[in-house]
Amino acid sequence: MASFPTALQRNASLQAYHSFGCKVQAAGLAGFSGVEQIPELVAEAALPSLLVLGGGSNVLFTRNYPGLVLLNRIMGMRVEKEDEQHIYLRVGAGENWHQLVLHCVDKGWGGIENLSLIPGCVGASPMQNIGAYGAEVKDVIDEVEAWHLPDQQVIRFNNSDCRFGYRNSIFKQELKNLVVISSVRFRLQKQPKPNTAYGAIRQQLEAMQVSRPGIADVSRAVIAIRQSKLPDPKEIGNAGSFFKNPVVKTAVADELLAQFPEMPGYPDTAGYTKIPAGWLIEKAGLKGYRQGDAGVHQQQALVIVNHGSASGEELLAVAQLVQKKVSDMFGISLEKEVNILP
Ligand SMILES: Cc1cc2nc3c(=O)[nH]c(=O)nc-3n(C[C@H](O)[C@H](O)[C@H](O)COP(=O)(O)OP(=O)(O)OC[C@H]3O[C@@H](n4cnc5c(N)ncnc54)[C@H](O)[C@@H]3O)c2cc1C
Repeated sequence: MASFPTALQRNASLQAYHSFGCKVQAAGLAGFSGVEQIPELVAEAALPSLLVLGGGSNVLFTRNYPGLVLLNRIMGMRVEKEDEQHIYLRVGAGENWHQLVLHCVDKGWGGIENLSLIPGCVGASPMQNIGAYGAEVKDVIDEVEAWHLPDQQVIRFNNSDCRFGYRNSIFKQELKNLVVISSVRFRLQKQPKPNTAYGAIRQQLEAMQVSRPGIADVSRAVIAIRQSKLPDPKEIGNAGSFFKNPVVKTAVADELLAQFPEMPGYPDTAGYTKIPAGWLIEKAGLKGYRQGDAGVHQQQALVIVNHGSASGEELLAVAQLVQKKVSDMFGISLEKEVNILP
């Protein structure tokens, strides 16, 4: 993670603080290591809006940000309680997500190993209920602590208060930009049962010749799969999956299947089917599409990439083209997973 300014900076570059790496500025930029610093920084900046960033791996700045960007660097990890089966681990929102996974794997605490190598910070993990390889963070979140900006007080959310959904939560909806998540308490298993339900994990474990996997094996398998499939933001700017996988009525999926018999689909809630957005984009002919330095990744059609000096506007234009082509061809509207700013 890039080092961060402790004092307020004006007209500061954001290039090092977001994974698309676009050349944009914030009217104000500062890091903070405790929520008590927020009111002071906000008052000093006197700017019209506020944005909290963790690792900047799920945002796209379409132009200079006119407000104050606060980099969350609240650190720390402590076991708050434990029972026979669980460890309750409180983690500061500024901790790196993957380092947390490695720490838990090392301790033998299960529950987040399938989420290995997801970029970003712990504080953003409840925002969109991060998920991958058959797991979602909602299944291990016990409590989220946040600073409520309008009321200037700490609020605690239990798991159901967070209203988690597929890449969704109350923090991405009603409470967007109203709270700053300061810590998350995870409920981890002391005698973990590795989750190998996802086909790619089983195949990778087989390739690694692991027949009785533990959580460390699952983590290694996920890391290997991700490194072979996903572009590294250090090499090519991106924010992972740009769109959510659309969930459509099964009757709609069946009609599409009649036209495209090879279309993959997975049962979702009763009467609904989830279709991989990457397949739709590839079928629409856009895999590897490039307009200047903005494009669709060669191997992963779900990932919009910055080949060098694309602006946020140019990247957004590619995303909009993808949405249009997919809508024209399949009648499906793709919803963006990445947070578009300002
Ligand atoms: C290569 C790559 C692969 C990825 N793979 C996955 C994946 O498999 N699964 C997945 O779910 N995601 C994935 N992502 C997306 C991203 O890593 C996650 O969404 C991650 O949780 C974002 O963390 P961050 O700290 O970078 O958030 P940021 O980008 O800094 O912020 C994201 C949003 O959360 C808000 N926010 C951040 N921190 C706080 C806080 N403390 N309080 C309040 N609001 C806050 C921001 O304002 C912004 O709206 C991937 C991204 C990349 C680049």
